[in-house]
Amino acid sequence: MPCCDTPGLMPVSAALSLVLEHTQPLTKTQDIPLDQALNRILAEDIFSPLNVPPFANSAMDGYAVSCSDFTQNTALPLNGQALAGSPFDGRWTENTCVRIMTGAKVPSQANAVIMQEDTQVQDGLVFFHTQPTPQQNIRPIGDDVKKGERVLQKGTLLSAREIPMLATLGIAHVKVFYKPTVAFFSTGDELRQVGSPLADGEIYDSNRYTLAAMLEKLHCKALDFGVVPDCPTQLRETLLRAVDAADLVITSGGVSVGDADHTKEILEDVGEVTFWKIAIKPGKPFAFGKVKNTLFCGLPGNPVSVLVTLHVFVEPLIAKLSGHTQWKAPLCLKAKAQTRFYKSRGRTDYQRAIYHLDEEGALCVSTTGNQGSGAFSSLSLANCFAVLEQDRGHVEIGETLYIEPFGSALN
Ligand code: AMP
Ligand code: MG
Repeated sequence: MPCCDTPGLMPVSAALSLVLEHTQPLTKTQDIPLDQALNRILAEDIFSPLNVPPFANSAMDGYAVSCSDFTQNTALPLNGQALAGSPFDGRWTENTCVRIMTGAKVPSQANAVIMQEDTQVQDGLVFFHTQPTPQQNIRPIGDDVKKGERVLQKGTLLSAREIPMLATLGIAHVKVFYKPTVAFFSTGDELRQVGSPLADGEIYDSNRYTLAAMLEKLHCKALDFGVVPDCPTQLRETLLRAVDAADLVITSGGVSVGDADHTKEILEDVGEVTFWKIAIKPGKPFAFGKVKNTLFCGLPGNPVSVLVTLHVFVEPLIAKLSGHTQWKAPLCLKAKAQTRFYKSRGRTDYQRAIYHLDEEGALCVSTTGNQGSGAFSSLSLANCFAVLEQDRGHVEIGETLYIEPFGSALN
């Protein structure tokens, strides 16, 4: 699917569609205790086994009353109490009231709660400053969730918003999908591990740190296969070991057309290449394919390209692989350029940028400056990508452009 401006380069949306078309969700599930369920993907619909709240209860500290008693009275004698966890156990009598605390079960004969602030107690009599209306300050049974109602959908990521709900329903174990196993390694003769000295011409391997961080944020089981030199035999051997161990293998470097770039040829040899050149900047050489049943993403070596391609292609891939059907594509907002953005036509740019609100509350965006694909400093300054369309040229001050604020994986 070559693009008219840039022969041989696949537009970002087409490449992403192909990635997702070739990705099948993993289906294996496991039952786990609720306290281990954070960031796991639910593998079943959850129907509520009970009403929430399970009984009508008071929303206030005050007095439970029957509205019909108020036709003649403005004061009632106290006839007992109801505390949270200790319901009223006496006999309800007409023309009396019951002291009640927040969360306590409302006696069945009462139909309103008058808050304490609207009352005064004198000689065992409660004086009411207001008239009650039926159901006031009562949280009815099943007000939040009805028994039998579907509360969570299969494919939901369990976060601090869902787990307390499951606890409320008394659910102690949940069925979740196994986490995808993702093996990764860096390639390059020039790469050294942090902690060892650098010889002339060498640099530290940073991409494995990017990958480890992102894979943790994307809730995968990550397998680090280290740094592999630009040696076809070693690359091939490591790739095959990684493929046997993982659902997805991600490498960085060696995927372009240089003399030491072997990744694509090895992939062609041991598996299949779906595409390997995308109309994206940074991140043009990106080899996507499959070896046996394992997906393969060969990212470029440049550190910023790694992060951008992880964001654009690998994050949606992992969401689909994980069974996370409720996954949402990154938020995309229109913002006004407060600086120029330099851009050449032909590829979609993911430039590093900073968004903020101006004095009128309008969303504005400025560039972080140096947009080189090795310029890591641009990333720590930025809080969003400025996504500049493939056919667009320079963006002038005041023009509108799209931004993608960094989501949880990048924060
Ligand atoms: P390559 O894609 O292998 O041609 O690498 C492109 C650029 O990224 C080169 O300048 C590499 O030295 C650099 N690079 C490759 N891999 C890494 C890595 N793991 N960490 C930091 N820089 C890298
Ligand atoms: Mg290289």
